Amino acid sequence: MPGTDVGITFLGGLGEVGRNSTCVEVDGKLLLIDFGVMFPDATMPGIDVVLPDNTWLKERSEDIVGLIVTHGHEDHLGGVTHLLRDVAIPLYGSELTMGLARHKVKEANLENRTSFHVVADGDRLNVGPFDVEVLPITHSIPQSLCIVLHTEQGVIVHTGDFKLDSAPVDGRLTALERLEEIRQGPGIRLLMADSTNADKPGWSPSESTIGETFKRLFPQWKGRRLIVSCFASHLHRVQQICDAAIREGRTIFPLGRSMVNNVRIAQELGVLDLPDRSVDSIDRLNDYDPEGVCVICTGSQGEPNAALSLLARGSHPDFSLSNDDVVLLSSHPIPGNERPVYRIINRLTRIGCEVVHDGYEHVHTTGHAQREELHQLYELVLPEWYVPIEGEHRMLRRNADVAIEAGHAQDRSIVASDGDQLTLDDQGLRISGQIPAPYRYVDGLLDDLSSELLEDRRKLGESGFVHVTVVLNLEDGLVAHPEITTLGWIDTERSVQVLAELEVEVVAAVASALDQHKDVESIERAIRRTTGRFVGNRTRRRPPISATVILAD
Ligand SMILES: [Zn+2]
Repeated sequence: MPGTDVGITFLGGLGEVGRNSTCVEVDGKLLLIDFGVMFPDATMPGIDVVLPDNTWLKERSEDIVGLIVTHGHEDHLGGVTHLLRDVAIPLYGSELTMGLARHKVKEANLENRTSFHVVADGDRLNVGPFDVEVLPITHSIPQSLCIVLHTEQGVIVHTGDFKLDSAPVDGRLTALERLEEIRQGPGIRLLMADSTNADKPGWSPSESTIGETFKRLFPQWKGRRLIVSCFASHLHRVQQICDAAIREGRTIFPLGRSMVNNVRIAQELGVLDLPDRSVDSIDRLNDYDPEGVCVICTGSQGEPNAALSLLARGSHPDFSLSNDDVVLLSSHPIPGNERPVYRIINRLTRIGCEVVHDGYEHVHTTGHAQREELHQLYELVLPEWYVPIEGEHRMLRRNADVAIEAGHAQDRSIVASDGDQLTLDDQGLRISGQIPAPYRYVDGLLDDLSSELLEDRRKLGESGFVHVTVVLNLEDGLVAHPEITTLGWIDTERSVQVLAELEVEVVAAVASALDQHKDVESIERAIRRTTGRFVGNRTRRRPPISATVILAD
């Protein structure tokens, strides 16, 4: 008897790094895997985060049986509160992931919209009609999960983010044996694998190699304060920093909201092995001698409001850096963040700090599988179908090529995009539909920004604006001088002459328009046209231009 079809809809993460979300459908029920944010780039002025579009999910809200989160990174978990405002559904994930989720949900006052279900490595559970197995997989945050769905169309494996770390800090290895066991029987029908590093050759170094560097470097800095920055979620990195610092007799001072929160949550859950006596609050920093201090802070990506940026600018309320301090960036700039990161390093070097970063010391390693790791996973799993996920299109393509180079049939891998809907049935896997999957921009409290509105913001950011107001009587003409309002176009004090010339042009344009038309719209159009021509010719700048005609009594 033919088995029930499986549908897969990609809501995000296939075409960009971030806003990862995959939705699997069986018997009309939907199981979400991840609901993450993407961080804005320079083309998205003022945007806080970008989310998967939720129109389709809202239409299907009755059918969603749950959201399983592969791990606690923002690009997989960060959209959860936005999602819960639209659909009330239970959450599933490892203890740490659920700990981080609970914190977010609580802060957003949405606890009545969900429930938290902690799953342990190797668990097999039913979520609606889904038979879900969760396996340990290594990545740059503890307790990451690989999702295995046992369906009537065979086994589907979703890696989440992963690397194949043979010496993870917590000793929790990827469940390669279990994956091999499944491959031997019943076999794996479909593998969806992380593409982030698909164009990087070789293997990623193990996370534990970074701890070795710390052990070598930290004793060199005796007698000086040490400030280390890394991702607040990278708790294995935090662990290794703490271990090396405590060995040198230092006390740990977490700094930055997410670092303070994550360290506390991880300590409570036992994910971080950090005795209370080795941690102190930043406001007691000055009670310690320099050799007893290790500040561990946020801001390794150059985020302007994070702790490291404030320290580099000398505007942190709790303490200031001095030229005897050592600042270690245990991170690598995410593509696009290079300039803000280098700006911070420049500021720190101006203060006189010794700055250590991954440009010349091995103080960071990636959390994503490089080509040899993808190759190894492919050979272990030998799926019938291969679908790269999590990456820009070029990364997805390269990931598909890794499988093809390993002998996978070209027509059995699908490089899909956001919005694509796949069907897995007795015939195989194919793209069977498409839903709109636009970026959903969040700025402040609202997510109402269309791409047109963003285009307006970009134009305003590039060239300011000019607005002309005139008060007139349709019979007698202007009753006052035109009022020209501008922001960001010209310096109104130093370019008085330009404004005076524009005023003359506007007066003439109004007079000539009134000769032919007696309606407000035509006159406003004439003012816009004249102003636009003048601004372009006189200044070679192209700000958006608007005009208002007010009728006098
Ligand atoms: Zn991740």
